[in-house]
Amino acid sequence: MTSYPHLLEPLDAGPVRLRNRIVMGAMHTRLETLDRPTERVAEFYAARARGEAALILTNGYSPNVEGRIEEDSEVFDDSTDLGPHRVITSAVHEAGGLIALQILHAGRYAKHAFAVGPGKDRARINPIAPRLLSTDDVWDTIAAFARTAELAQAAGYDGVEIMGSEGYLINEFTAELTNDQRDDEFGGDFARRCRLPVEILTAARARTGPGFLLIYRISAVDLVDRGMTGGQVADLARQVEAAGADIINTGIGWHESAIPTIAASVPRGAWAFATQNVKAAVAVPVIASNRINTPELAEELLAGGVADLVSMARPLLADPDFAVKARTGRSEQINRCIGCNQACLDLIFTNRTASCMVNPRAGHEIEFTRRDPATRKRIAVVGAGPAGLAFAVNAAELGHQVVLFERSDRLGGQVNMAAVVPGKAEFREMLGYFGRRLDGLGVEVRLGTTAGADTLAAGGFDEIVLATGVTPRIPVIDGVGHPMVMTYSDVLTGARVPGRRVAIIGAGGIGFDVAEFLLGDAAESLDPDAFLQAWNVDPALVTAGGLAGPPRAEVPRPDREVTLLQRTAGRPGARLGKSTGWILKARLRQAGVRMIPGVSYTRITGAGLHYELDGQPALLEVDSVVLCTGQESERTLYDELAGRGIAARLIGGADVAAELDAVRAIDQATRLAVMI
Ligand code: NAP
Ligand code: SF4
Repeated sequence: MTSYPHLLEPLDAGPVRLRNRIVMGAMHTRLETLDRPTERVAEFYAARARGEAALILTNGYSPNVEGRIEEDSEVFDDSTDLGPHRVITSAVHEAGGLIALQILHAGRYAKHAFAVGPGKDRARINPIAPRLLSTDDVWDTIAAFARTAELAQAAGYDGVEIMGSEGYLINEFTAELTNDQRDDEFGGDFARRCRLPVEILTAARARTGPGFLLIYRISAVDLVDRGMTGGQVADLARQVEAAGADIINTGIGWHESAIPTIAASVPRGAWAFATQNVKAAVAVPVIASNRINTPELAEELLAGGVADLVSMARPLLADPDFAVKARTGRSEQINRCIGCNQACLDLIFTNRTASCMVNPRAGHEIEFTRRDPATRKRIAVVGAGPAGLAFAVNAAELGHQVVLFERSDRLGGQVNMAAVVPGKAEFREMLGYFGRRLDGLGVEVRLGTTAGADTLAAGGFDEIVLATGVTPRIPVIDGVGHPMVMTYSDVLTGARVPGRRVAIIGAGGIGFDVAEFLLGDAAESLDPDAFLQAWNVDPALVTAGGLAGPPRAEVPRPDREVTLLQRTAGRPGARLGKSTGWILKARLRQAGVRMIPGVSYTRITGAGLHYELDGQPALLEVDSVVLCTGQESERTLYDELAGRGIAARLIGGADVAAELDAVRAIDQATRLAVMI
């Protein structure tokens, strides 16, 4: 499909006209903690407005000190300097966009000593217990929300989004799970549990008047025990509409839910049923969110009456020009979010600033102002993994003449291995994008070609860039040459098939991926019904929180016994991505995978893998041993060129194999392309 009539249709919502149906969802980026924060944040949002996103929602600002997520999170109150905010709102307006400030009170998710909540129970994911808000405190909090809305209006924002989902304060008031200790006007029965958001909207409207956009983000499905039923969600939606919300946005699940909501293992559009429930209850426009990453899916949801608008946060990190490319018939050029979380949420959760694996410019826009190179060079790129692809595309976009050599018959390198792992099929989108861009930019791609030193020396190249990648590390273990031993590459490329009983040596990211490959069910991440069933979600929303039972249904165990081993003491998987590692670990536990840390490998024989644990010898009787023991840089060509005095630049895994990761590879390649 090349035209998107529903997606591109303007919409009148409250006091504003949106130029299309694409909303950039609120996202914590930590950009405000960088050098020159105002300039960076302004350019970050302005780039998305220039790319024709109709409405931008900022990251959450707390209305008061108690509501900060962390000690150093920003409060937006009378002490706030509105000057920098005016720079941001002006930049977005000059770029033709609209921007609303999200007001987020963290409630019992606050990671500091001032945390408060409707009750005194601490959240499963926070060691800090909240103080119970008195009735007067609640009224003060309502006044603080309204004042923040008023100040946001003064700072030039077009509206505010009141954050009522994801298990933060307002959501804690609306769910019985967290609001079962009160018997005042804000708790005791469902009607009183809903009073907080209703009063906030009423007070905010009174302070800002009719010309200011009020968005309420409702929890469309709580995904926690004793959360709201679908009927209660619909009831609450009607109440917030009556209280003055111009638009209702939808959030899915609480941060403490034991069900994945946005990872790549969640099928695209899986939560449409929850959004539809809200949409059916109200007349104001409703926004769908979570795992919507293509204009086709967005169009389908809008055309199907699931929602009136779509929220995309990560997809607009991946490509700020998503909307304008969709409008101008260039949707095949959209750089798609692959749901990996590796350079956005995983960085945020480890106190770094968000960027994007497939678009390292995200959050760093002011470092990447486009400059046409002084000289257009003829450049050889060897290796079409993520580093080679990113370099080739970015260099060609700047006008260089690029020849890309790849020994195998397809693009992608190690990404092809990731893409076969259940839940990681989206990695193919990255390859699709790069492939289309190479075509469109006229890069000469020589597949099935081993570029030797002679070819490169004779090719008349001004620059040689080596992205020759990595080879699996073969550890020194007696018997490692036994026929039952294979590498992760053998397994994930399909070159070899392990037997029924498998030992995986090395419990890093790839060890876990191989276990998932051997045991997982690919359908679960592609088919919404299979996913909802596997995670015990009730799509009829009859049950509290939308849970049909414990978070994970009993699934039949596959006929394979897999054991993951590592030398390091401590729990395997500790270094997996924060946002997705828990999903992988939960699934593998469910599939019966044994994990043995703290081993020392002795030898491999026909009987299996011999090791020592706590000084005691042990034998794991297996049919196959898979080596997932890291990688070594592939630099044969580099050494050969160096031996002949020919200069070349190394990028990606060929440069540094340790902690090989596509985020670093693509970032390094993109930066080199800009400066070469
Ligand atoms: P890795 O994470 O470094 O894990 C390799 C494991 O092999 C190590 O944890 C190490 O564990 C073991 N090992 C290393 N040398 C060994 C030796 N000589 N003998 C025996 N065991 C040895 O590397 P990876 O699994 O290949 O993953 C590479 C990168 O890909 C990761 O850094 C990650 O960024 C990325 N990745 C991430 C994910 C994810 O987060 N889901 C998935 C796939 C890939 P011990 O020393 O404890 O034995
Ligand atoms: Fe999407 Fe991954 Fe980029 Fe995050 S890092 S925006 S999940 S592609």
